[in-house]
Amino acid sequence: MVPFFFASHWSLSVLFQSLFQHRYAAHRMFTAGPRTERALHLSTALIQGSSYLDPRAYAILHREHHAYADTERDPHSPVHQKNPLRMMLHTARRYAGLLTGRIASEPRFLGGYPEWPAVDRVFNQWPTRIAFGALYTLFYKRFATRPWHWALLPMHFVMGPVHGAIVNWCGHRYGYRNFASRDASRNTLPVDVLCMGELFQNNHHARPASPDFAAKRFELDPTWQVMRLLARLKLIRIEQAPQGRQATRTQLGSRENSGGALAASPSL
Ligand SMILES: [Zn+2]
Ligand SMILES: [Zn+2]
Repeated sequence: MVPFFFASHWSLSVLFQSLFQHRYAAHRMFTAGPRTERALHLSTALIQGSSYLDPRAYAILHREHHAYADTERDPHSPVHQKNPLRMMLHTARRYAGLLTGRIASEPRFLGGYPEWPAVDRVFNQWPTRIAFGALYTLFYKRFATRPWHWALLPMHFVMGPVHGAIVNWCGHRYGYRNFASRDASRNTLPVDVLCMGELFQNNHHARPASPDFAAKRFELDPTWQVMRLLARLKLIRIEQAPQGRQATRTQLGSRENSGGALAASPSL
């Protein structure tokens, strides 16, 4: 039961991060009616629980990442950080500053993200985060049958930042490149079931407006498949057709690090 719970929490948490915070809040790759948007917002908060990521702060941070990818102004780049832990701490400080308003964003990164003050206030509070942590612990207390099960428990508390660290560290350090972008982005896995498509960083940086992060025939982006299903059910509307899988380096090489990263945001 514990491995199943861990795998489910991991997969759903990163799926909703990719779908809601990344592709919807930061990039506006799809639109949704007010009720669907609220349902997505609340589902994300409940699934991510103790490590819920505020969509506004996430969107601003992520737009900064695209605009300054792997330069000194990138909020999380393995090129400028010694190890993943330092990168996480650096990112966490900037995220917290944007969340509280202590750090002001460039105006061009503002707007176009969903805001639900009541939910964001409740789920960004420490008592809520601790309450979710207590629920995870109670689940383990009831169902853990092997000592090693307990080693998985701390991951539930920090699931969101851990996914961010894996994507931002590995996706700009390990793997292959389909496109000659100026940043250090890589595609870490050709079938990314580990982070639901987020590890196609090279494809995504080269084609930031494409809702399908896979670019080659052998690649699979699970979150894109979920988006297709939601669109077929008429719950969301995909605003941009995915760029084809036959694109070549010369077609796309000139788009890297351009404003295209933010083209899907209505405010930019
Ligand atoms: Zn992005
Ligand atoms: Zn990146």
